[in-house]
Amino acid sequence: MPIERFDTVILGAGAAGMMCAIHAASRGGRVLIVDQAKAPGEKIRISGGGRCNFTNIGTSARNFLSNNPHFAKSALGRYTQHDFVALVEKHGIAYHEKTLGQLFCDDSAKDIIAMLMDEMARAACELRLRTTLESLERADDGFAITLAGDGAAKIWCRHFVVASGGKSIPKMGASSLGYQIAGRFGLAVTETRPALVPLTFGEDVLAGFREIAGVAADARVSCGKTTFDEALLFTHRGLSGPAILQISSYWREKEPIRIAFLPTQDVFADVRSSRQENGRRSIANTLGDLLPKRLAAYLADAMVGWGPSATQATRSWPRSLRPFRAGTSCPSGRKDTGPRR
Ligand SMILES: Cc1cc2nc3c(=O)[nH]c(=O)nc-3n(C[C@H](O)[C@H](O)[C@H](O)COP(=O)(O)OP(=O)(O)OC[C@H]3O[C@@H](n4cnc5c(N)ncnc54)[C@H](O)[C@@H]3O)c2cc1C
Repeated sequence: MPIERFDTVILGAGAAGMMCAIHAASRGGRVLIVDQAKAPGEKIRISGGGRCNFTNIGTSARNFLSNNPHFAKSALGRYTQHDFVALVEKHGIAYHEKTLGQLFCDDSAKDIIAMLMDEMARAACELRLRTTLESLERADDGFAITLAGDGAAKIWCRHFVVASGGKSIPKMGASSLGYQIAGRFGLAVTETRPALVPLTFGEDVLAGFREIAGVAADARVSCGKTTFDEALLFTHRGLSGPAILQISSYWREKEPIRIAFLPTQDVFADVRSSRQENGRRSIANTLGDLLPKRLAAYLADAMVGWGPSATQATRSWPRSLRPFRAGTSCPSGRKDTGPRR
């Protein structure tokens, strides 16, 4: 088999690999990108509920968690969210801002994949799918590679880029190959843990709120000194929704999280004035004006002894309502499946 020569070979045709291919090829080098999957960008396809939250207009280096905060600074110094938005606009992809600066496609995340494929084709990158890495060695100021599968080949390349992604969702092609390669070439690897994932709870806590699985409401969710104000979703296994996905990146085993509904509203005053107007109105009904009805009923129920005539209780009502009675609860773990937005 003759040896093919490339300037850059990229392993993994996900978001990172495709962007890398476009930029490497636009500098004039011969670029090959390979992936074991039958289609590129599979995680992009399911991102943002199928509409891909492709960037945030408020992105800054402060939004990235890293042992080396300067990495995000220098990366964003060279390529910003505005550059990506300009690319999306160049391809005529319709988009909208959902909340808090998050930009989503109007139609489909597939538009983003098509855009990246189009840019790769323009830059003359070669893409080989259903192809895996069989061997990788240093050779003559570069790398000697053997590929197996549909794109089987023996290759020499000056640069070899590992863009094989994180470990979440193995069913979609995720593997730990990148970590193994780093280990083999003596590169330090930090401990990995899931981020931007739902939180799961033990049966003792779950039993308390399984009846409201499926209910979503805005909440203030905190862990340590970090707080997010976004939507929260009760699920059959625990909690999800944007506020929980965000806080999951900060949560450490055995730490409690705090949840407050209506954190900026004087609920005490609302309940008191409702009671003044109609002394027989239940707390659940009053809360039902402010929160989803099932959640209102659940919270009212969880407040021990707060029946319709418990006027005493309204005096000690906390300004922000908290579930789980004590106001905090300790998740038992993370759902290790990757982010869901
Ligand atoms: C449900 C869900 C929703 C998400 N929503 C959003 C969102 O709205 N906005 C956002 O910014 N992010 C979102 N994300 C995160 C985002 O999708 C990922 O961060 C991003 O796609 C990761 O890109 P990547 O290129 O690093 O890795 P990947 O997309 O995982 O790409 C890695 C590629 O390498 C290939 N590969 C792995 N091992 C091998 C091997 N041994 N040989 C050959 N090929 C291999 C895989 O097949 C894969 O194609 C979401 C993720 C999920 C799971």
